[in-house]
Amino acid sequence: MRPEEENIVEKSDYNVVAEAEFTLDGLNYIITGDERFYRMIGEFSFFSFDKIVHDDDRANFLEFVKHDNEEKDIFIRCKIRDRGYRLLHLIKLETRRVGDDTLNCFRLQDVILVCQKYRKYFDIVKKYRSFMDILPNKFFDLNLKTGIFTLYYYNNHKAQPIVRTHFDEWKKYVVEKKQIDEKSMKNFNMLCECIENEMENFSITLNCSILTNGVRMEHISIKGQTLKESVEDPLVLGVITQERANNNNSFIISQTDNPEAGRDSGTGLLNKKTVTDKIIERFNQLKEEKIGQGRNVYLLVLDIDNFKQVNDNYGHYFGDEVIKHFAKRLSYMAEGKGLVGRIGGDEFIVYLDNIKDEEELRIMLKSMRLRLKLELKEKNPDYLFSTSIGISRYGVDGTDFETLFKISDACLYIAKDKGKDRFIIYDIAKHGNLLKNDTIKVARGNDFLKPIDKYELATKLVMKACKEGTSCMVDIIKELGDKLNLHGIRVFVGDDLKRVYSSGHYIKDLDEASYINSPEYSVHFDEHDMYVVNNVAAIYMIHPELASKFKDDNICSFIQAKVRDDKGKCVAMMQFDIFGENRRKWSNADICTLRMLVLGLTNIAGEYDCKK
Ligand code: GH3
Ligand code: MG
Repeated sequence: MRPEEENIVEKSDYNVVAEAEFTLDGLNYIITGDERFYRMIGEFSFFSFDKIVHDDDRANFLEFVKHDNEEKDIFIRCKIRDRGYRLLHLIKLETRRVGDDTLNCFRLQDVILVCQKYRKYFDIVKKYRSFMDILPNKFFDLNLKTGIFTLYYYNNHKAQPIVRTHFDEWKKYVVEKKQIDEKSMKNFNMLCECIENEMENFSITLNCSILTNGVRMEHISIKGQTLKESVEDPLVLGVITQERANNNNSFIISQTDNPEAGRDSGTGLLNKKTVTDKIIERFNQLKEEKIGQGRNVYLLVLDIDNFKQVNDNYGHYFGDEVIKHFAKRLSYMAEGKGLVGRIGGDEFIVYLDNIKDEEELRIMLKSMRLRLKLELKEKNPDYLFSTSIGISRYGVDGTDFETLFKISDACLYIAKDKGKDRFIIYDIAKHGNLLKNDTIKVARGNDFLKPIDKYELATKLVMKACKEGTSCMVDIIKELGDKLNLHGIRVFVGDDLKRVYSSGHYIKDLDEASYINSPEYSVHFDEHDMYVVNNVAAIYMIHPELASKFKDDNICSFIQAKVRDDKGKCVAMMQFDIFGENRRKWSNADICTLRMLVLGLTNIAGEYDCKK
């Protein structure tokens, strides 16, 4: 290592000058420099500049200065005051001829200091973005160079646009769509004038529906200012505050106006109700505007693959990390193009608008999935992330939320059946009419009981059995079925697992279940002796005969729970079935409740057996 290189100083504080501007004449003598330049270079400023350039960089520097060439910048080492050699970024701003002489104007940046300052500013920006996250306000800015007007709010440190278009277009649009209350038109025109005339400061109130794109009138106040100094792109910017509802009943301000409300606390994404409402709103708008033909709008339903195993193998904390990463990547993917919401534990929905073509969608999804695989592999080298995705297209597969959701969800299950880790874009020629197809008709599981209520129910029923003995078993099972919205419950007992109890409208009703102890079927049961199937279609490939028997009974989802004696021998099995077209996405709470109940009842039945 050369001694000069050893001299390059790495450490410094933020207060020293990181950037300066100066001019050199044809012999590289310093003609002028700004105040920062003299603070930076000190007494060296009396010399020819090339004297302070490191020997090894001098030739490059002279070449760079001499030619009025295309090269705009170089990196050189220069001796700076008492700070030894520093790596500098020299940017040529301008070359002027004055008489016979050539003057070169430069900007000089101390690379390490600029990086440190950048880091510091980055942190400051993050801090202010966090403030903006907390604020319920909406914001706008007009880029005076491009004319682009953006209306947005903040979430997860990022601007989430509500509108992004040319100011003139937006102005015309909101007037045409009658988004400004008639009485507020004067104020709206004033607002536009303030913005167009780049007023230093302004403050205006309006009754309008511009924040909800025509859905809801509200009373808002807008405070703005113009930012022109020391910025590359001058802006007119402002903050919008939703005022409390005024006396006029037609202005209803609902809780969902607050961007924080209606969000899932784990990921910051929209929750199921909010995202569904918003997507329906968008579909209605598309219908009204008669667009959709030629414009690609997609609805995606996504479910993480084998997520239960992630929790089991790497713990819930890592499971939560996976969900957060997934949510973040989905938000990035949909940024400026649509909406993302969490509709279940590991289930998400994405609405994408303005996608160029299917190829663009495929590329977006492939890169999103690859990024997630890589970034989660970095967190945990043993884990390979994958997700299954079902996709429908607005205007082609349907125009209402329910239809499109059903198709996307059915495609998601086709993706799962085909081996997961893939996306399926609905194609009626390939997949048939999914809305008519009996095997994959879909609906959400019932959300009417909170998990804690379900656990309480299990405890209450076990206590009842404990008190009243096996005679009340039938009542207990009935109550369980009613409360958990189970369509059928069966109990199989003994060595050959004969059916001893059945409630629900079975058509054929298998009278024994000894198949569950066959080696190829046993593998499905988890360590708690439960086998959870959301969609019978999923077992068609592996157990076609059984699946078709289940289909004869109109079963679409089920859970089987084995009961063992103290020697580990399977002595009974309880099966909980859902009939019809509505597949049940069993929640963790459903599974835990049923497990608690089966365990509780088994213990009690065992005790009674012993007493007999
Ligand atoms: P599949 O590939 O068929 O989707 O299998 P899976 O294991 O992912 O099954 P499923 O989607 O039915 O299960 C989702 C599981 O996600 C259930 C629950 O244990 C877990 N889960 C739900 N919400 C959370 C959460 O917020 N954090 C964590 N760590 N786990 C969750
Ligand atoms: Mg899953």
